[in-house]
Formats: sequence, C-alpha cells, structure tokens
Amino acid sequence: MKKDSAAPDVTGLIHHPYTPPSGFEAPQPGVFKASTVYFPNVAAMRQREWKDKSGYTYGLHGTPTTYVLEERLCALEGGAQCVLVPSGLAALSTVALALLKTGDEVLLPDNAYGPNKALAEGELQAFGIGHQLYDPLNPADLAARINPRTRLVWLEAPGSVSMEFPDLISLIKICREHKVLCALDNTWGAGLAFQPFDLLGDGQFSVDISAHALTKYPSGGGDVLMGSITTRDPALHLKIKLCHMRLGLGVGANDVETVLRALPSMGIRYQAQDDTARHLAHWFSAQPQCAQVLHPAFASSPGHAHWQAICAPQGRPGCAAGLFSVMIAARYSSDQVDAFCDQLKLFKIGYSWGGPVSLVVPYQLHAMRQAWPAHLAAGTLVRFSMGLESVQALQDDLQQALQRALPV
Ligand SMILES: *Cc1c(COP(=O)(O)O)cnc(C)c1O
Repeated sequence: MKKDSAAPDVTGLIHHPYTPPSGFEAPQPGVFKASTVYFPNVAAMRQREWKDKSGYTYGLHGTPTTYVLEERLCALEGGAQCVLVPSGLAALSTVALALLKTGDEVLLPDNAYGPNKALAEGELQAFGIGHQLYDPLNPADLAARINPRTRLVWLEAPGSVSMEFPDLISLIKICREHKVLCALDNTWGAGLAFQPFDLLGDGQFSVDISAHALTKYPSGGGDVLMGSITTRDPALHLKIKLCHMRLGLGVGANDVETVLRALPSMGIRYQAQDDTARHLAHWFSAQPQCAQVLHPAFASSPGHAHWQAICAPQGRPGCAAGLFSVMIAARYSSDQVDAFCDQLKLFKIGYSWGGPVSLVVPYQLHAMRQAWPAHLAAGTLVRFSMGLESVQALQDDLQQALQRALPV
C-alpha cells in the first residue's frame, strides 16, 4: 500500500517513542490505569508471577496505584498483605467465599452489619453453608455455638447501630482454642481506634483477617465505594487473593486515587468527628426525650469497659469514631421519631458514615435482632453520624428538631 503523505500518522500516535524522564516526585503517587500490562517478551510473560507484588501482569491483579494503597492500609492496620475490592460489602462476601464451602458454618454477632447477615441467609445458605448468630456481649454463647462445622467467626467492634462493644480478647481466645478463623469488620476502628493485629500492644492478641469499608473514613467524601481485606498470614492471603481474582473484583484507579488523596487527613477527620460525637452524645444524654445514649465511650453504653480496655487504656481519652445512637423514650411513637428526623436540616437522612455531611437514620431495631436485647432501653433507636460541620450548628439543629417533633 502506498503511503499517503496527507493521512494522519495514527500508528505514530499509538506507538509514540517519547518517554518522560523518570524521577518525578510529588505529594500524590499518581494514577496508573490498565487492563493490559506489557511484557518485554514471551518468556517474561510466562515467568511473571501475578500473585505477589514482584511485577505486573494484568490490571485486575494490581497496578502501582493499587499496590500503594494496599501497602498504606497494611501500615495503618498493622497487617502484612492487603487486597482491594469494590465495596466494604464485597470485602465481607469475598472473605466468606474464599474460606467457606458446603457443609461449613459461619458465626456472626447478633448486632452484625445487616447485609453480612443477609449474605449468610442468601447466597451462603443456598450454597449449603450454615450460620448462627451469637450474643456479642456473651463470649460463653460464642463458645457454646462453635462446633466441628464452624470455620469462620465474624467480629464487629462495636456493632454500628446499637453500638455494643464486645470483649474482643475473650472472643479471639475462644476462636484460637477451637482453631477457628476470626475476621473483624474493622470499619469503625479503621486502624485508628485500635490495632486489630495486636489488640493489647503486646503481640498476644490478633484477628486473622481485618475487613474494612474504605467507603467510610479512608474515603471521607461520601463519594467512593471500596473495601479492603488485610491479613498477616501469607497462606490465608493467598486464598483470598485467588478468590478475588476468580470473582474478578477489580477496583477503578480513579477511586483508588480518591482514597489515597483522603488518607493523609483521615486521622484528623476521625478525631474531629470523634470530638463532635462525644459532645453531642453528652448533650443528648441530658435531654428528657433520651432514654439511653449508645456510644462506647459512655458508661451507659453496653460493653463500655471493653472499649476502655482496648481503645482507651490507662485512662487515656482514646478513639471512638464519629457515630452514636440514641434510644428515644418509648412514650414517643415511631412516627414522631420519623418526624424528628424529617425536621433536621443539617443532618441529612442517609446511610453510611465518615463523610463531610452529618447523617441520621431511624432504625426498626426489633426487626433487626432475634430478640430485644436486655441491655437496651425500650424506645426507638436513631443513629447519628458526624460530619465536619461546627458542633454548635449541629447541636442547634438537634435542639430545634426535638422541640418541634418530640414535645416534652
Ligand atoms: C458500610 C459498612 C460496610 C459495607 O461497606 P460498603 O462499602 O457500603 O459496601 C460493612 N461494614 C460496616 C460496619 C459498614 O459500616
């Protein structure tokens, strides 16, 4: 074919010889986007190992961008290996699918994140994988439920609606004694409130797996869904990595970049939201409409002593995230409590937490638990998540809505 000198050199645009100089350094590590990754020759392609971070094979298995976030999350949570997945819930489901098979059983706390229970009742049950719910405040109940089919125990500290903080050390000991893997949903602690792989700081107590909804504090924007699964045992990591590959759970480089950009401010955001939550929870405890404040740093909250032991030892103020729930007294109807939520202006009605905007959700707790827990006052539960607004503006908002919707 004769070369038409007027035709644009499309091939040159694709195979352009320019490479920028190396040595570029800037605050953010850069965004590498790829499905395809090149190999210099066939032998290199055949030899390339995709299961570790020694090189690159295909976008699904990792890029410099995903490797950087995984390593930073390992540092944050004290883990050794990490896998990114497209949501926090995908982290929970990948752990289950990687580790459980027909005939096995998984144990979940009765206050577990709702969709994790739904996974057990849905897909896991359909695959012939059983489940039981244990009382998160009673380690003996967990011990009694472990049986030869039990392969995995989920921990949550605290449960993110009713806020019970379990005795993690006793629960982990029981898992160890029975040689059952324990996985923590670490979304609340986020690697800041406590170290999931070294809970008492003496190298004695560690979960096997930390699953984390990066959607919450690491993202911090209310605009990204992502999850991570962090481990310290290479064999356990390999099982999860293989399952992650077979399920094809890649994450988008732009979303990873958004999380990387938000990570440096995560510590101060967490602290600010913690301060706001404690102030407003304290204020709420003095309001006549309030039957119980549920916040692990408060003595009124179930499991407070366990929070203290792990998150605030030796009288330190400790970390407690930016969530609290209030049990509105039973003399108010659930319609009145809904009207209170509708009256709020700064607190938006919406799920999730850790973003800049304060959020509120009323929960139908009786539909979420096997039985009404004895440690909870009667009433209607409302869960608040702190944003980054001024604490006074948030308090004023709560006050006006209480006055209008829940007259004393
Ligand atoms: C939000 C959340 C999840 C799920 O995260 P998504 O990214 O929304 O799927 C899991 N566990 C807890 C405790 C959460 O709060």
